[in-house]
Amino acid sequence: MATLLKAATISQAIVDDLKSKCESIREKGVTPTLKVILVGEHAPSVIYTRNKKKFMERIGAKCEIINIPDNVSEEAFLKQIKNLSEDKNVNGLFVQLPLPKHLDHIDVGQLIPPDKDVDGFHAQNLYQVMAGDLGQNALLPCTPKGILTLLENAKVDLNGKTVAIIGRSLIVGKPLSLLLTNKNCTVTLCHSRTKNIKEITSKADIVVAAIGKAKFVDASFLGERRDQIIIDVGINHDSGGKLCGDVDFENVKDICSAITPVPGGVGPMTINSLGQNLITATIRQSGITV
Ligand code: NAP
Repeated sequence: MATLLKAATISQAIVDDLKSKCESIREKGVTPTLKVILVGEHAPSVIYTRNKKKFMERIGAKCEIINIPDNVSEEAFLKQIKNLSEDKNVNGLFVQLPLPKHLDHIDVGQLIPPDKDVDGFHAQNLYQVMAGDLGQNALLPCTPKGILTLLENAKVDLNGKTVAIIGRSLIVGKPLSLLLTNKNCTVTLCHSRTKNIKEITSKADIVVAAIGKAKFVDASFLGERRDQIIIDVGINHDSGGKLCGDVDFENVKDICSAITPVPGGVGPMTINSLGQNLITATIRQSGITV
């Protein structure tokens, strides 16, 4: 059985660190504050935002979910973002996606000021990922940042590793490919038009599945070597309605060296990263040192 790369092995240390930073910041008169805009009542989004709020409260930060009806006009929606962007008491701001159809052409990542962009989607923050000039103060996209933290915590030496990522979305695959390239990995970014995906994944030291298809990656994607590391980003439900990833866990768990479970792997790391980004954003804006 492969080693399980569980978020739980590192989450408490991250929470303790964030709690202590948050307390120091509060002692200096600022309470790290996150505002989340939630349009409509998309069930998974309601759960995701609730979990994010719970996490922020756990570390001692403030978090308000701003519920907007799904028939909101584009003008009113944009005005809400503008007001919160300009509010000096708001340190972090994001819009929970997906948006209703009439708003989904709006590139919300570009509307939120880069220094409040705790999701890490603003062009300025993404450019930092491309440039590789990260430092402690960077606001990195949460899921890729969480994956990197998980790998580093497991003491995986990334230097010179080959990585196959399946999925080229802006929130996972693309930024992760850059972050891993910055860490001296050689990355192949695969997608639905990639030919011979299994040939690529079977040779990679690390395989990342970010596709959105339940149990898509099975043993046929892996090589004979048995030392591959698998990162499962997917959040899906199987035919029985049970939560599962993009990897067929039972099928591969004995033929790889390490694997992230679903649930309990990448998902909680994404929320940890959001908390880290909120504290980073607050420190950057206030100039407080902790
Ligand atoms: P997305 O935007 O739908 O992108 C899916 C990617 O998979 C696309 O690049 C697509 O290729 C590729 N793909 C689809 N079918 C494929 C196939 N048969 N062969 C190869 N590639 C294929 O998805 P996403 O937003 O990145 O999310 C992916 C999964 O991660 C979902 O299950 C989502 O719920 C989950 N997720 C989890 C977290 C977390 O915190 N754990 C965060 C974000 C997302 P094309 O580009 O060619 O269409």
